[in-house]
Amino acid sequence: MRTSTTYQIICLPGDGIGPAVTRAALDVMQELGRACGFRLDVDEHRIGGAALDATGSPFPAETQTACTNADAVFLGAVGGPEWDDTPGDRRPEAGLLALRKHLGVYANLRPVVVPEALADASPLRPEQVAGTGVLIVRELTGGIYFGTPAERAASEARNTMRYTRHEIERIADIAFAQARQRGSRVTSVDKANVLEVSQLWRDVVTAVHADEYPDVALDHLYVDNAAMQLVQRPTDFDVILTSNLFGDILSDLAATFPGSLGLLPSASLGSDVGLFEPVHGSAPDIAGQNVANPIAALLSGAMLLDALGESDAAASLRHGVDAALDAGHRTADLARNGEPPVSTTEMAAHVASYATDKLTPSASVP
Ligand code: NAD
Repeated sequence: MRTSTTYQIICLPGDGIGPAVTRAALDVMQELGRACGFRLDVDEHRIGGAALDATGSPFPAETQTACTNADAVFLGAVGGPEWDDTPGDRRPEAGLLALRKHLGVYANLRPVVVPEALADASPLRPEQVAGTGVLIVRELTGGIYFGTPAERAASEARNTMRYTRHEIERIADIAFAQARQRGSRVTSVDKANVLEVSQLWRDVVTAVHADEYPDVALDHLYVDNAAMQLVQRPTDFDVILTSNLFGDILSDLAATFPGSLGLLPSASLGSDVGLFEPVHGSAPDIAGQNVANPIAALLSGAMLLDALGESDAAASLRHGVDAALDAGHRTADLARNGEPPVSTTEMAAHVASYATDKLTPSASVP
């Protein structure tokens, strides 16, 4: 039996369904902590629209300070129609961008998994998509979204796609290290047949691979071909490593595979403090009804637990999600054929029950 570790978690529930899904996920994670001998000390702070209304800023100073000192940050979602007319730099989404910048997270990890039990909910053919488990590693703080000059005149506009060797090396490092813990295959996606910046990307990725990760298989695809291959043979991919722009597009394409946004988690890494959040937004159309699917938040929680080194709890949480789906439990976004859907809290309770069943209690935390 080990002595209990306590982790400081900052929860930023945000807006819409954010509070419901983060609370549901944290309840399950805390229960797993009790079974595995660690404790999550959770402190909630405002971000997005909720922060704007309360403080006039979408990312207030007290939230910034709290995040800096955390072991991990767990976010719900931000935004909603009530803030649609707010000026750009004070919109809820500006709070999210400021948070990512504040934490210095340059690597966005998006696993896209299609469990067998949900293959028939996919827009792709079930036999084509069942068993998909791809991790998209997207560079998050460089490339064309941040390159200068970026300007617009009356009849001309331009943006700049720029990467430094250092930026490519550090994201490649993360992708290869992730691949080592999975299927040991990286597909680097670029447009090296046309863009100089992609030629540098390809050379640097090839060098990082040869120097430090020769045990991992590496191949390269042009982004247009990658989009096609991803749809045609999604189960063949393990880790996809790509730049900010290409990753933005490919990860949204892959996000359609499981059949609901409510299933997709993400992690953003780079500095000491990682940010873990569902891919979906604040879903104002279903907010406040206890119907949102908590699985994206639960799986983001599993990524958080992995990052803390609590891999048994993370594996149990993933098992709990799979077992709940295998048993036929479905929230409204996934329910088919007139089956009555379960609520957010019911789904989380099912997951907790399957997840903790797998564990033998090793310590109790007061
Ligand atoms: P959205 O992801 O909030 O919703 C899209 C659709 O998916 C909606 O029909 C919604 O009901 C459904 N959906 C999303 N999550 C679900 C879940 N967990 N369970 C069941 N159904 C779910 O995207 P949107 O409608 O384009 O945006 C709504 C707001 O969220 C906007 O203000 C947008 O700017 C913001 N947004 C925030 C983030 C973020 O915080 N990371 C991401 C995307 C959008």
